[in-house]
Amino acid sequence: MMPNLQDHDTFYRTFNWQKERDKLAGLPNGKGLNIAFEAVERHAGGPLNDTVALRWLRKDKSVEEVTYSDLQKRTSQFANVLEHLGVAKGNTVFSFAGRIPELYIVALGTLKKTAVFCPLFSVFGPEPVWQRLSRGNAKVLVTTTALFNKTVQQILDRLPSLQYILLTDTETNLSERVLSLPGLMKNASDQFTIPPTDPETPALLHFTSGTTGMPKGALHVHQAILTHYATGKYVLDFHPGDIFWCTADPGWVTGTSYGIIAPLVNGVTNIVDEEEFDAARWYSILEKQKVNVWYTAPTAIRRLMRMDIRPREQYDLKNLRLMLSVGEPLHADAVVWCQKTFEVPVLDNWWQTETGGIMIANFASLPVKPGSMGKPLPGVEATIAEVSETGIQIITEAGKQGNLVLKKGFPSMFRAYLNDEERYNKCFRGDWYITGDLAKKDADGYFWFVGRADDIIKTSGHMVGPFEVESTLTQHPAVAEAAVIGKPDPNIGELVKAFVVLKNGNAANDDLKLDIIAFARKKMGPAVAPKELSFVENLPKTKSGKILRRLLKARELGLPEGDLSTLEQG
Ligand code: AMP
Repeated sequence: MMPNLQDHDTFYRTFNWQKERDKLAGLPNGKGLNIAFEAVERHAGGPLNDTVALRWLRKDKSVEEVTYSDLQKRTSQFANVLEHLGVAKGNTVFSFAGRIPELYIVALGTLKKTAVFCPLFSVFGPEPVWQRLSRGNAKVLVTTTALFNKTVQQILDRLPSLQYILLTDTETNLSERVLSLPGLMKNASDQFTIPPTDPETPALLHFTSGTTGMPKGALHVHQAILTHYATGKYVLDFHPGDIFWCTADPGWVTGTSYGIIAPLVNGVTNIVDEEEFDAARWYSILEKQKVNVWYTAPTAIRRLMRMDIRPREQYDLKNLRLMLSVGEPLHADAVVWCQKTFEVPVLDNWWQTETGGIMIANFASLPVKPGSMGKPLPGVEATIAEVSETGIQIITEAGKQGNLVLKKGFPSMFRAYLNDEERYNKCFRGDWYITGDLAKKDADGYFWFVGRADDIIKTSGHMVGPFEVESTLTQHPAVAEAAVIGKPDPNIGELVKAFVVLKNGNAANDDLKLDIIAFARKKMGPAVAPKELSFVENLPKTKSGKILRRLLKARELGLPEGDLSTLEQG
């Protein structure tokens, strides 16, 4: 099958975003651009009406299919539910759930209503959930009864502006504030006309982690659909009739941009697996669902590499045409293993919450250099630069390390950090956005990831901000101070490691260590809480009192304290 993008360098030179916009419909009568219209209504009103949009694989292996036409009706019902509850344009609707169909319906129904959708990772404990709901000024939260009882109920009285909690799996209302979603949906019409939507209307809010403060909410607008559409076509290489599976959780940006929007706007069938990673289950999904395009992550690939399974011999994977990876470095040995094991190209690509969609990628038609993230997406200008407080100096020398920077102007660039203009402005030098990553560009124009320029931790592909974890640790009665780093780990990329200074009178022993870890797990959830903890007498700090996390990391790894550049190797 010929890739949609056949010659990267030529296409890159001639590309313009307006041509992509012309391939989408826009709201009828020139009323703007709405993500949900392009992803759902456009297909429901055309030849893809009966095509399966979502195929949901339940934990018990049973399957539920939702066609584009069904999806149109159910998302319209949800938009009407929001209308009924008095949700206005720009209000924020949060979801806090695993991969269940309601999450997808809520996301798209919210966009239809021109409210803002914000997903939360279902593994978060009460503290991260509270942080995000309160910072995002949540008006409505959709969740399950189990997560409500376990996590949400205990923070409700700290969330005065959260008006409604909608439970996906109960028929009865618990109170005037906690309502049954099925009950509301049953009474809602399945007809809804999307209001005029200026492309700059806020659509999606994704929380990401910083090093110096609490999570920051990156705000994206409906215009971002152009990036979702174009990357689906040119990077994921969607063709009509494709079956696509993105293994990322919609609690994170990849699971929304590519687990919901990009496949639907391109009219393909999107597989949603409710279950967590399980190698045998995953291979049988690839086989039984006849997956053509598979988007996954290095953490999962590393786990598959360790298993004694020969997928090509044990499973029929003839439908698999393309495999892609994102979120962490995909090292050359993993690229080679994938190519040998699956006999299809494996394409690493790079982007982040703030960019809303894929920015740098390997393309099906471009030779892969194992270990490289590939070349910029047509329509995106990326380069390597030295960054100072006031400006940037572009590095022209091939292979020289510097900051990865992107030129403003592509459709999915975030428009704000919610309520934090200062932090937003700090990310830019003129028209250039400073990504926070260090990288190199070789003489052929391929980009190579080097590391983060800050202390943000990537564990199992998820961003963790050290400050958020440190703030929770210091709530433990025995903890005076805490510092948190990412410690390289062969399985999950980095593990969260904490250094703790105890308050006077507490003995540093294993029981206390376990108690502090358990405390953090309960408050934050296992995805964020430290996996390792060491007691220290004091923390290294700058003169102004800032914790020197990099020094702690160097000591932990036995590296020379003066030269931390070797730490940047992922
Ligand atoms: P997030 O905003 O959670 O999606 O995380 C974005 C960060 O993940 C980037 O800034 C990089 O540090 C890292 N990342 C994403 N994709 C890649 C990749 N292909 N190779 C290396 N690091 C990556």
